[in-house]
Amino acid sequence: MTATDYKFEGWLGLDASSADGKMVWGEFEPKPWEETDVDIKVTHCGICGSDLHTLRSGWGPTLYPCCVGHEIVGTVVRVGSEVKNGLKLGDRVGVGAQSDSCMNRINGDCEACSSGNENYCQNKHVGTYNGVYLNGGKSYGGYATYNRSPSNFVVKIPDGISSAEAAPMLCGGVTTYAPLKHHGAGPGKTVGIIGLGGLGHFGVMWAKALGADKVVVISRSGVKKEDAFKMGADQFIATAEEEDWTSKYKSTIDLLLCTVSDTRMPVAGYLSLLKMDGTFIQVGLPDDGFPTFQQKPLIFKRVKITGSLIGSPNDIREMFALAEEKGVRPWISVIGMKDANKAILDFEDGKPRYRFVLENQENGAARL
Ligand code: NAP
Ligand code: ZN
Repeated sequence: MTATDYKFEGWLGLDASSADGKMVWGEFEPKPWEETDVDIKVTHCGICGSDLHTLRSGWGPTLYPCCVGHEIVGTVVRVGSEVKNGLKLGDRVGVGAQSDSCMNRINGDCEACSSGNENYCQNKHVGTYNGVYLNGGKSYGGYATYNRSPSNFVVKIPDGISSAEAAPMLCGGVTTYAPLKHHGAGPGKTVGIIGLGGLGHFGVMWAKALGADKVVVISRSGVKKEDAFKMGADQFIATAEEEDWTSKYKSTIDLLLCTVSDTRMPVAGYLSLLKMDGTFIQVGLPDDGFPTFQQKPLIFKRVKITGSLIGSPNDIREMFALAEEKGVRPWISVIGMKDANKAILDFEDGKPRYRFVLENQENGAARL
């Protein structure tokens, strides 16, 4: 099969109004082919909060036309002659939120790329959409029929995980797995997950799978309480409903992972939950930045504030292995690709329980 046998088509955002459910279906020009690339016939793509930030130019001007979607699963239909990681035609693969880094091609030896931390490459981080590759081509995401990505960022999906379930793991999954693992979520630790959405629900399940003593969900209301316990949470805090939550649960948590993307979030209250030397990890990315807050907890409890960006291809492989071993699977609703505009509106309304996955039935999307 050659590149001309199929068309790259998808839902395109043409301007910021596309986030209001106004993406239009159309053809796009993938990056100029290189022999290190693979083409993927997309069967599934999860909907991530980042898709909405990008469609509305929330983080800065988006390079329209833009096809979002970075939780991509499909089958390999073309493999470059210099692909070295063993990918073959017909393989079931995935691409997460990053599809290229400098890979030591810019300033010589890159500390991040050489140490398996490609997600922290400071020379070139190409997002799976709204990015520009070294060869000048633009990156287009997975609300589409086909995707072209550099092979280093294409990962095989283990046989035991269905395509629909694997999709949200590629961004939402690894974005929570990587920092929890890095910061030692495990035996002896109490872990708090703030915001029970797509990222947050993974956070709860990973913290349990990694062996944390106790997992606490910090949500706004009690609406998701029952779900949180089914996911494995041991405790639930509803910040908008329990008036005394900051004092009641004061200094009880070692590690807090915050997935909230609203700059009005009560950061000082969240920090009050941390024990001495506790760590607050921000992964949510509000359009307006991190809120200002009273510095007292930093000083009086020596707590640390840090952040974390997605995960490397190796983190993704490791996450899949843990998911297989411990039976971690996302809670998803599968929606036809044709209904993507309605799906992003529902996403903005907070309806996913807990991830929407778009499916291209005509591309042979078979669920295991
Ligand atoms: P999501 O499914 O909408 O989840 C976000 C959750 O935040 C909501 O379910 C809600 O949980 C909580 N929340 C929303 N508004 C809030 C408010 N005003 N105050 C307090 N909590 C609020 O979104 P997502 O896909 O998980 O993405 C979350 C964020 O992570 C986005 O900003 C996204 O861009 C970012 N992200 C970052 C990375 C990274 O590498 N760092 C990667 C992927 C995504 P409750 O209903 O439980 O309160
Ligand atoms: Zn994402």
